[in-house]
Amino acid sequence: MSTNPPLCIRMHPNDNVAIVANDGGLPAGTRMPDGLTLRDAVPQGHKLALQDIAAGDAVRRYDVVIGHAARAIAAGSWVHERLLAMPAARALDGLPRATQPAPALPPLEGYTFEGYRNADGSVGTRNLLAITTTVQCVAGVLDVAVKRIRDELLPLYPQVDGIVALEHTYGCGVAIDAPDAIIPIRTLRNLAQNPNFGNEVMVVSLGCEKLQPERLLPPGSLPILNAQADAAQTLDVVCLQDAAHTGFESMIDHILANARVHLERLNARRRETCPASALVVGVQCGGSDAFSGVTANPAVGFCSDLLVRAGATVMFSEVTEVRDAIDQLTARAATPEVADAMVREMAWYDAYLARGSVDRSANTTPGNKQGGLSNIVEKAMGSIIKSGTAPISGVLSPGEKLRDRGITQGLVYAATPASDFICGTLQLAAGINLHVFTTGRGTPYGLAEVPVVKVATRSDLARRWHDLMDINAGRIADGAASIEDVGWEMFRYLLDVASGRRRTWAEHWKLHNALVLFNPAPIT
Ligand code: CA
Repeated sequence: MSTNPPLCIRMHPNDNVAIVANDGGLPAGTRMPDGLTLRDAVPQGHKLALQDIAAGDAVRRYDVVIGHAARAIAAGSWVHERLLAMPAARALDGLPRATQPAPALPPLEGYTFEGYRNADGSVGTRNLLAITTTVQCVAGVLDVAVKRIRDELLPLYPQVDGIVALEHTYGCGVAIDAPDAIIPIRTLRNLAQNPNFGNEVMVVSLGCEKLQPERLLPPGSLPILNAQADAAQTLDVVCLQDAAHTGFESMIDHILANARVHLERLNARRRETCPASALVVGVQCGGSDAFSGVTANPAVGFCSDLLVRAGATVMFSEVTEVRDAIDQLTARAATPEVADAMVREMAWYDAYLARGSVDRSANTTPGNKQGGLSNIVEKAMGSIIKSGTAPISGVLSPGEKLRDRGITQGLVYAATPASDFICGTLQLAAGINLHVFTTGRGTPYGLAEVPVVKVATRSDLARRWHDLMDINAGRIADGAASIEDVGWEMFRYLLDVASGRRRTWAEHWKLHNALVLFNPAPIT
């Protein structure tokens, strides 16, 4: 048990519950600073009733009804998930559309980072050779080739930070003409053009697969393939079934030879001073707990506002974790059209879940609940805080790219599943060059394609995972730092990481989660 004075955190004056902040929780009989005595032991991050709550009454956190009391709850009791009946999801009609006035967010000027400018106008934070694949069948061969490129070629090109094989399980054995197949296909198309790949596109194909290279990357889908290339450039494809290949080693030689051409060009690039407005920051959370919405996510939200004020793009996602806050988000939309696009994405996802006979409540994990989050409503209220206070100025469907929608700044909602790897993959396709990831339970998540900055919600996690967590937002609950302090620290840290002056822990240890496509279409 904690030796610190008992501390609970109430998010809003209208709330009738608060969460226990102390490491290890608090025992029954603890007298809280306001005189309330705990009737039960309450674990860290879990809720206590601040007043008597009658059966059927609303339980409020974040000034939102997170459930109704399943039975009478006396003041000082532990309010756990079994005491809460979850409210129904808000209907998607009659929502407020762009009704909330935009907050005053004065421009933030003068902040820069050192990045790699691309011919298409985007800016990379790393200088990577990415090799796109059309089908999983080539993955084994490509793995061998990548190892050789890493060992034999990369030392010759010291300005190149690394090589990434964009492997996936799509490409064949799939209903490629199903309407929803557009999602995995455009995700792969846009992944190939992430800003960190320098507009260089190289493809390894098998030959007989459904997702042919011309279908994945048709002429015209790549506005600018390479800075030095003319418009008539053809797609660089190594096809393993090509008649020119005799044996395995000729395939490897071919891949290495083609990789050299791209490495030469990438190696000639240098970092240049770029305005902070060139940052495209994807935010998400994983392994959340009740502190996510108290410490890490509010700090990310503050940092999001700083980024938006600096002219950067901030992307938040995770449909099931915003669904219960849809009325707040449509009110914050910059225009009625943006609000309608938010509703369109929610409706699509409601129908997608219904096809599987579930709803958004399928989101929460045993770890979330152990961490104090009773249900998806409570989780969502903590999750949306990552988006800060800026108006929502654009919406992307899964797998779409910001630049295809003409979006180069502001707060954007990119509809994705909440699954960490799928959300990360879709945000990469949308064009992020930095990723901020908050966690309360702890996950070693990382991506090979962009730096992932991990933010701990609790000091206890930050201490134990001292070489995995980049920023400790738990200091906010400890009273050692304010949300603003941690938000500014995060903003400056992002500029350092973007510039290559600092590496994240996930980069240091080379922790790379797989790309995972969102494929709502049938498999054959
Ligand atoms: Ca997630």
